[in-house]
Amino acid sequence: MKCSKCLEKSIVFRRDSNTHLCESHFVDAFEETVKHTIEDNNMIVEGDRIAVALSGGKDSTALIYVLNKILSKRKNISVFAITIDEGIKGYREDTIKSARNISEKLGIDHIIVSFKERFGLDLDEMIEARREAPCTFCGVFRKSLLNMTAKELGATKVATGHDLDDEAQSIMMNYLKGDIERLGRFAPRRLQPGLIPRVKPLKDIPERETALYCMVHGFYLKMAECPYASLSFRSDVRDMLNYLENNFPGTKKSTISGFSRISNLLADRYPPMRLSSCEQCKEPCVENSCKACQLLGKIDSSRLIASSRSQS
Ligand code: SF4
Repeated sequence: MKCSKCLEKSIVFRRDSNTHLCESHFVDAFEETVKHTIEDNNMIVEGDRIAVALSGGKDSTALIYVLNKILSKRKNISVFAITIDEGIKGYREDTIKSARNISEKLGIDHIIVSFKERFGLDLDEMIEARREAPCTFCGVFRKSLLNMTAKELGATKVATGHDLDDEAQSIMMNYLKGDIERLGRFAPRRLQPGLIPRVKPLKDIPERETALYCMVHGFYLKMAECPYASLSFRSDVRDMLNYLENNFPGTKKSTISGFSRISNLLADRYPPMRLSSCEQCKEPCVENSCKACQLLGKIDSSRLIASSRSQS
């Protein structure tokens, strides 16, 4: 099949615009979409110092590459990378190496911080003998550590690699859990003290295109998946949406556009929560203690119980 814009061989079909694109026109279209997303949502402004959450997977790799390309000529905007090492044996080592490689290649400052050094335990240790899904722990601690680190390093925004598929999954997960309050707080909100604002420049790009963008630039790697991913609710929702998208093209986009039509109503119904400062770590929180410190407290108690059982 030929590219719809030239005579080169097509590498991708964009169903929504009914166009076949060759490598070069695909790269242009990808980058134009990201630029529009940034501009239309006023995501990045002069003076911003952007911390890119760089896991080393395809989405964050595509993100840092495209941001570096788009923003490199803007003198008043800087980009650096933060990688969180959760401590997932047999998985994180490879992705950290990839994160280091892409940062070096682009000449971008790269900081690696770990659960172990900040919370005293890595994820594998945190979930030992616990019934909660590992992603519950991982999500809370990663969010907290990312915010702390970005703040310490003077970031004005945190950019994450969430793509269109991630957005559709998050919306659907909240619908399916009946968690309408959380759904109402999903849309970007006003600034909250102590929280570095998050932006998602890839939110209009389908996941398969982030993978393709990495491949055509020669830096995607192997499709490593976290060993805990299949245990999560998100994994089932992802499979369900992929199935629906295959059989009813456009399902993911309509999930997102349907949500955007009700998001203002939900925002009125569920205004931002008033935040205070965690008594232990000083991170922003709703109660006296943030979610990360609450979970650490639970982990400490269960480890104490386990150790007293093993001694008796
Ligand atoms: Fe963490 Fe779950 Fe993602 Fe694995 S799949 S990195 S445990 S959030």
